[in-house]
Amino acid sequence: LTKEGKTEMQSTGKKVGGVDISSISKILHLSPPEVSLLERIEKEMTIGLRVNCGDETMILNAYVVYHSTARGPAKGGIRLAPNVTLEETRDLAERMTWKTALTHIPFGGGKTGIRIDPRTLTSFTKSLIIARLVQEIRNELVSGNDYIPAPDLGTGPPEMAVIYNEIRNPECVTGKPTHVGGLPGRKEATGRGVSYSTIYALEHIHSIDVKKSKIAVQGFGNVGSWASKFLYEKGAKIVAVSDIEGGTYNPEGLDIPKLFEYSKKNRTIKGVGGKVITNEDLFSLDVDVFIPAAVENVIDKNTANKIKAKIVVEGANGPTTHEGDIILSKKGKTVIPDILANSGGVIASYVEWKSSKSGSITKRQEVYDTIEEGIGSSYKDVIAAAERYKISYRNAAAVIAVDEVVKAMHDRGWA
Ligand code: GLU
Repeated sequence: LTKEGKTEMQSTGKKVGGVDISSISKILHLSPPEVSLLERIEKEMTIGLRVNCGDETMILNAYVVYHSTARGPAKGGIRLAPNVTLEETRDLAERMTWKTALTHIPFGGGKTGIRIDPRTLTSFTKSLIIARLVQEIRNELVSGNDYIPAPDLGTGPPEMAVIYNEIRNPECVTGKPTHVGGLPGRKEATGRGVSYSTIYALEHIHSIDVKKSKIAVQGFGNVGSWASKFLYEKGAKIVAVSDIEGGTYNPEGLDIPKLFEYSKKNRTIKGVGGKVITNEDLFSLDVDVFIPAAVENVIDKNTANKIKAKIVVEGANGPTTHEGDIILSKKGKTVIPDILANSGGVIASYVEWKSSKSGSITKRQEVYDTIEEGIGSSYKDVIAAAERYKISYRNAAAVIAVDEVVKAMHDRGWA
């Protein structure tokens, strides 16, 4: 370690990316230099992105963060959101490091945040923004070894196609449209994984038959809508779903395929096929599983107390605050952490990346099977670590992920 590194050996005790490195380090007996390396962001950029839209020039704040490339190129989505900050982008990049490590995918963790409300943009303006971002980070994308983007909130296959158009290498980006090297099954992959994670928690941890389960889902975007659809197909009763404007509640179970189609053509599903409820009401519903699949920090010290569900499956990245987590754990809730629950997206990205590299063709069912095998095997590791160290599933997932990254740092001679 460098002299500069030595001066920073003490853990700051900070807790971003959902992992408190200092407490995990006690379990894994990490050395101060290892802790110092883990707590450090490898590289970050704040860019004033000038986007010439013809009639006006927008200047947007863009944040590109590579938290760790110890295990491979930084992998992580591009988020367009009105309130995204550098802090949030760091947190999300770090979560990607743990997610790829837990699932043993040969990637590191990164993220891009661009501060703009995607709902105010036409698809053409979105493509201009992405093309400008590519100009700024072209070298990293071209090398294929620094950063491999994917969709996140506010972006999807069309935006990934812009990156492919610019760089012209199919392995430089995942989440591409299916006709240009994207995978059938990548779009719904995160939701597919969340549904599988939910069934696993219900049946293997709580011995509840999915067909007899009641579920509430916050968020009906790409993750929440697909997770609801797959769970509905498996016989679960989805009694409530919501979006940014509000929700709909039907104790007899909602007609999810109908809502799914409805949501594609309309702005909100609020009150459709059920009684209008607020996002606040959703927490206190009498259900077996609550799936936060929208944004961060929704389960906090106030809302955590209201949750009646036995199981919380984190479909979103970072939906639970530290205070919220303590309350859930005191109340004996089973929390399936984001880095396990929503890892289906990045698992599918890995399959896409491999197919793009080799030129092989991958079928939808193969993608689904890989997601389920990947999440199933992570579950087994997490449950075993939780029992071994007598810790929560969140901390168990973190222990496994941190251990993987530390081993990679050693193999590379960094630590
Ligand atoms: N945005 C997704 C996530 O947060 C997928 C990232 C990826 O596939 O690189 O997991």
